[in-house]
Amino acid sequence: MQTPSPSARPHVVIIGCGFGGLEAARKLQRADVDVTVIDKTNHHLFQPLLYQVATAGLAAPSIAAPVRALFRKQANVTTLLAEVTGIDPAARSIRLGDGSDVSYDHLIVAAGATHSYFGHDEWSGAAPGLKTLADAFEIRRRVLMSFETAETTADPERRRALLTFVVIGAGPTGVEMAGTLAEIAKHTLAGEFRRIDPGSAQVLLVEGGPRVLQAMPESLSQKALEQLEKLGVEVRLNARVTAIDDSGLEVQTGGGPDGAPVQSYRIPSSCVVWAAGVAASPLGRMLGAATGVECDRAGRIKVEPDLSLAGHPEISVVGDLAAAMSHAPGKPPKPVPGVSPGAKQAGRAAAANILRRLAGQPTEPFRYADYGNLATIGRNSAVVDLGTPFGPLRFSGRLAWLFWLFAHAYFLIGFRNRVVVMWDWASAYWSFQRNARVVADVQGRSES
Ligand SMILES: Cc1cc2nc3c(=O)[nH]c(=O)nc-3n(C[C@H](O)[C@H](O)[C@H](O)COP(=O)(O)OP(=O)(O)OC[C@H]3O[C@@H](n4cnc5c(N)ncnc54)[C@H](O)[C@@H]3O)c2cc1C
Repeated sequence: MQTPSPSARPHVVIIGCGFGGLEAARKLQRADVDVTVIDKTNHHLFQPLLYQVATAGLAAPSIAAPVRALFRKQANVTTLLAEVTGIDPAARSIRLGDGSDVSYDHLIVAAGATHSYFGHDEWSGAAPGLKTLADAFEIRRRVLMSFETAETTADPERRRALLTFVVIGAGPTGVEMAGTLAEIAKHTLAGEFRRIDPGSAQVLLVEGGPRVLQAMPESLSQKALEQLEKLGVEVRLNARVTAIDDSGLEVQTGGGPDGAPVQSYRIPSSCVVWAAGVAASPLGRMLGAATGVECDRAGRIKVEPDLSLAGHPEISVVGDLAAAMSHAPGKPPKPVPGVSPGAKQAGRAAAANILRRLAGQPTEPFRYADYGNLATIGRNSAVVDLGTPFGPLRFSGRLAWLFWLFAHAYFLIGFRNRVVVMWDWASAYWSFQRNARVVADVQGRSES
């Protein structure tokens, strides 16, 4: 069944209500168009704070908002909870999971990214990644249940494996996860167990490259490494993961240009978190195949300067799904990074270009305004790299942590969320407690 546009006005369909999709829809608020926003989940998710849910610091509603509620006052938006399974550019129509079709005049695809296990999808069961609320619930359950099971386990070897937490990948998510896990072990759970000492838990951060936070300048990587070690995280650099199963992982070192011999060893662990690889949503390759537009190695589809697809000006792709370039006047094009400001700015720019097209005006190339990079490591620990008209401003430690904290609270969707998050953080800061530690189903069959 084909669902037509709700009226005779131009119909803009937006796939995905993450950062890119939400901003695109908001940009069309006063436009004389009908907008249909389609997402496979019922919520917009603030992914930068997802690790806080995975580590029991925040409850899910603090970082997620129902899509339907976000558009309650935007009368030109219809919200559909559905998974897009196909796109037919020739027919200007998309296929939903229930087999129905939705036609469009203009399409913005903002379906984001998913985990990449670098060809080892079989690792996903033993080492969940962090991308959705469901992932965060599962990681939180595994972390808390490892301590619980260790308390009832007599065998010392098994107990050690239960108290060994491994995070793979030292990008921002891996660093945040590892730092917070160390805090949980050393502070939050202190004094709560009688047979184990949670503070004896080992938190390992395993990274294939030579430094943590490789997108940051080297000086800040070094600061981040020092802060991680101060929190009690054991960082293993130049360590490549070669196998993961339910009882641990295999790691290989050496074989690099320094001539160090190749060595392999095993880390027994019951709780492994994958924070190493990102791949674009499968919709990228699907769209590439349907339009003949090339995708890069991560499956991101290459877009024109105005974010549309070559030969299909009615289709735009934004956010993590797009291999987009920033076009600043007088400068060579620069790749747009896969971060939330990139997705938000591109969402607004794609919507603005649709309005230009409808007005018979030429479209404008996308220009990304890069305000810098932040990463938190744990309590009073963060690194900040800001771009200013006078050059880069870099700092770390408590000031950076406060900056990170207020910046993230500011960008959260909804006033209530901001207040709740600030309150939870303040109480966690003074008490060392993490208030979202309730696990509804200890076996992991379902969670909410
Ligand atoms: C754990 C984590 C931490 C991060 N931390 C930071 C940070 O500190 N700072 C920063 O700037 N960036 C951070 N990022 C990156 C940032 O979140 C992304 O760059 C941003 O979310 C990309 O926005 P997007 O709109 O492209 O995709 P998303 O925000 O991922 O939204 C995609 C939407 O599409 C929906 N969708 C996907 N496929 C389909 C389909 N087939 N049918 C219907 N709907 C679909 C999804 O449900 C989702 O709602 C982080 C990401 C993660 C995962």
